[in-house]
Amino acid sequence: MKNKACIITGGAGFIGSHLCRFLLEKGYRVICLDNLLTGNIANIHKLNNYSAFRFLKTDVIQKDQVNKLIGEKNINYIYHLASPASPPQYRKLAIETLLVNSIGTLNMLNLSRKFNSRFLLASTSEVYGDPKEHPQKESYHGNVNPVGLRACYDEGKRFAEALAMEYFRKFRMDIRIIRIFNTYGPNMLATDGRVISNFLTQALSGKPLTIYGSGDQTRSFCYVSDMVEGLVSAMENNNSNGQVINLGNPDEIQVRKLARLVLNLTKSKSKLVNVNKRLEDDPEKRKPDISKAISLLKWTPRIDLIIGLTNTVKFFRDL
Ligand code: UDP
Repeated sequence: MKNKACIITGGAGFIGSHLCRFLLEKGYRVICLDNLLTGNIANIHKLNNYSAFRFLKTDVIQKDQVNKLIGEKNINYIYHLASPASPPQYRKLAIETLLVNSIGTLNMLNLSRKFNSRFLLASTSEVYGDPKEHPQKESYHGNVNPVGLRACYDEGKRFAEALAMEYFRKFRMDIRIIRIFNTYGPNMLATDGRVISNFLTQALSGKPLTIYGSGDQTRSFCYVSDMVEGLVSAMENNNSNGQVINLGNPDEIQVRKLARLVLNLTKSKSKLVNVNKRLEDDPEKRKPDISKAISLLKWTPRIDLIIGLTNTVKFFRDL
């Protein structure tokens, strides 16, 4: 394993930083690329204790910055995670989101081709839009508004998927596309505006928990260690080449029930308030069908929401 190396774009982000650590612990050399627009340097601070870890502040939209890596030796795997991913972040960085998923993906695919390395595209359940099929299977083509407020992310990722698939077809590259469903855990940015980070921050500071709309909408939350194991098995599995695979936890919950669960776990006296802040095209329901991941990767999420949230509460308390 000593000579095996991975490049992780977005490696200072929430999922990326856990992935860096996991791969370092497995004995890989890890090169972490991040422009720190939404990534957090504190997430990777302790990884500097590993001599096999290297962080290069890099904007993957910039071809000249990506091409600085061409001389690297034995790059076996490229995990392309770089992108703003929470609704408030990608609204604020809408153009950057479109560009990192289009030009950034192009630059990383070309680099991967030079290395002859395996490539994993981190895509998203957002490609299903506000789904009319429930739960969502990989074969579902989605219900996406191409000009709406979520389009920069949804369409950016849909373009990235299409591009990766054409590189797979044309250049016979070893590529897999992973659709990541809502994921949570330590290293989430407290200010990223996602539902779990908002609710935990609000509950721990005694502020009202902001339920957007009625709170009837659902999501299915996957703990980050499960997600990282899924990503690595998708990369290392010899049968995942050219495949599109959902990863997530199918345990579905309404947003208002999640709010109550957070109050229970934090023993908070915060109130629940309904606010009219749902972003246009906010999906009503979301739940992955993970039968493909189970059969192909022999992967299944193991951490239930109460245990995962308890760990995450501890992280937020310690902030
Ligand atoms: N949400 C909420 N309160 C918040 C933040 C989000 O009720 O403070 C809702 C949001 O409207 C959505 C769901 O929680 O229906 C999940 O939102 P999040 O931003 O975490 O991710 P999404 O799955 O929409 O990308």
